Amino acid sequence: MTSTVAAFHKRSIEDKEGFWAEQAQHIEWFAPPEKILDFSNPPFARWYVGGKTNLCHNAVDRHLATRGDQKALVYISTETKQERIYSYKELHQEVQAMAAILKSLGVKRGDRVLVYMPMIAEAIFAMLACARIGAIHSVVFGGFAAPSLAARIDDATPVVMISADAGMRNGKEVPYKHLVDEACRLAQKPPAKVLLINRGLAAMSRVDGRDVDYTELRKQHLGASVPCEQMLATDPSYILYTSGTTGKPKGVQRDTGGYAVALAASMKHIFDCKPGEVFFCTSDIGWVVGHSYIVYGPLINGSTTIVYEGMPTVPDPAVWWSIVERFQASTMFSSPTAARVLKKQDPKYMTQHNTSCLRRLFLAGEPLDEPTAKWISDALGGARIIDNYWQTETGWPIMSAQHGVEDTPTKFGSPSFAVYGYDLRLYHESTFEEVGADEKGMLCAVPPLPPGCLQTVWGDDERFLKTYFTAIPGKKIYSTFDYATRDQDGYYFILGRTDDVINVAGHRLGTREIEEAIQVHTNVAEVAVVGVADALKGQVPLAFCVLKNLDPIKSAEGRMAEEKAIMATVDKELGAIARPSRVHFVTMLPKTRSGKLLRRSMQALAEGRDSGDLTTLEDPTALEQIKSALKS
Ligand code: AMP
Repeated sequence: MTSTVAAFHKRSIEDKEGFWAEQAQHIEWFAPPEKILDFSNPPFARWYVGGKTNLCHNAVDRHLATRGDQKALVYISTETKQERIYSYKELHQEVQAMAAILKSLGVKRGDRVLVYMPMIAEAIFAMLACARIGAIHSVVFGGFAAPSLAARIDDATPVVMISADAGMRNGKEVPYKHLVDEACRLAQKPPAKVLLINRGLAAMSRVDGRDVDYTELRKQHLGASVPCEQMLATDPSYILYTSGTTGKPKGVQRDTGGYAVALAASMKHIFDCKPGEVFFCTSDIGWVVGHSYIVYGPLINGSTTIVYEGMPTVPDPAVWWSIVERFQASTMFSSPTAARVLKKQDPKYMTQHNTSCLRRLFLAGEPLDEPTAKWISDALGGARIIDNYWQTETGWPIMSAQHGVEDTPTKFGSPSFAVYGYDLRLYHESTFEEVGADEKGMLCAVPPLPPGCLQTVWGDDERFLKTYFTAIPGKKIYSTFDYATRDQDGYYFILGRTDDVINVAGHRLGTREIEEAIQVHTNVAEVAVVGVADALKGQVPLAFCVLKNLDPIKSAEGRMAEEKAIMATVDKELGAIARPSRVHFVTMLPKTRSGKLLRRSMQALAEGRDSGDLTTLEDPTALEQIKSALKS
């Protein structure tokens, strides 16, 4: 680490309160914090205690005086061929209308609102409207199936759900409404009201007394004036579910003031994006990157955010660069998988547009392999490629180059250095001692976690403690569940997860979740799912199934049909994003003598590697079956 970044980081750790008091000046407060940090009940950290603020005020109202006519949100859908531009003034109007609608539906401060939406501007109005009135939003990615949605409904118990008739993917409608109906039927505690945006893409039935129409209500409420609630900095702003080791997703709970400060500071120090500049993040609002860097980060910063619905390759693979050129984006945020998709296209598409306005392309969510990083760096000419590492839990980068602090060189394959605020440590996985330079360790952070990170698991403090703070015996230290090394210069390299989480095209999935979904298929006796390296998506899930009745797979056609049926079960239970790339059939799974599945061995074999230490394997023929299944 060079001197300026190192000094900045050191101060953030050694003088936490002083450092974060300064950062707090990047946002507006209704009342200043009385105390910067309350860490009296570790590892729970309460930032900016007593301070009053509002995310929507900082993202919208605050800019009205100086940037009212500036573009706040540019909505582009290459699916519906729509484009809409909202100035800060117009965004303010739309968000107030949405806020008035939510209030008319009975939403009060502290209530939850579930947002299950495609990438449309109304989804962002909905999130900001919730923040405005102090409701806690929980955005569920549109690709999740009804049972997953129902599980999130029951955990968050929203009073209102906001959805739409359909999303669009690659020219095809993806209807949502029947999933909303099904999820409400499956849920124990369904929302009282469902607010529906009719995009005119798919037919929608209406449930009397529950379903209400956005267009009608917007007409009534446009022009409404709804003030921002004065939220305590420590009040929760949202819940975002993420996968872990167990089947049940965890509701990551974010605060208000700490999150606003963390994002404002990151726009300055990490993204180095100036107010008034254009920020183009290609993620989806269903993921944490979308929350932080489509919605809140750029808007809090007074930048213009581009909201894009569509593929990176339609109408042609130059579409993103044409957007960059047209709107003069200075900063872009995307995923390594998207870069790999573009790498497969004709290189001419990379140079058709003048992208000299683009200073930096940030990539995160999964490992950025060196060939892809080099390729996109060359293909884009001037723009710097910044690998940054973080998690749903943290809400903003844990590791990144921080060009707003100092212009440091990057190393391919590394997300650079620890970001200010994160006191990172690497522990040996069996001795639990800190490891030296270039040695592999479990990546942990000494609490208090900096502002913006999860406060707790929604409704379950015990789960928060048990999940995140028990990896290193005797120390209440936050575990990222990733392995990493750090070189002599302070650059980190991420080596993959320590748990059963896999990363498919930047989407985090628990192998247990997929196994549970497969078990819904009535003929499945036992199943193991592992993540296997994939050239495009980083990893894909692969399933090994033991069936109860072997008759269906006695012929090649039967095997194919059973494989398809199992894949369809996953689509229905979890969503197509979790569908295994293949389902192999075996009559037993490799286990240790104590009955634990040998996932690492299965994964190694599937990736063509050695199966590793097998001294505890109960029955060697199980592994032979895996080998021959893979050969087939
Ligand atoms: P999510 O919570 O969905 O953002 O997933 C977080 C996980 O994605 C991390 O724990 C890592 O395993 C992985 N990840 C995120 N960013 C990177 C990166 N830049 N390099 C390597 N892995 C990453």
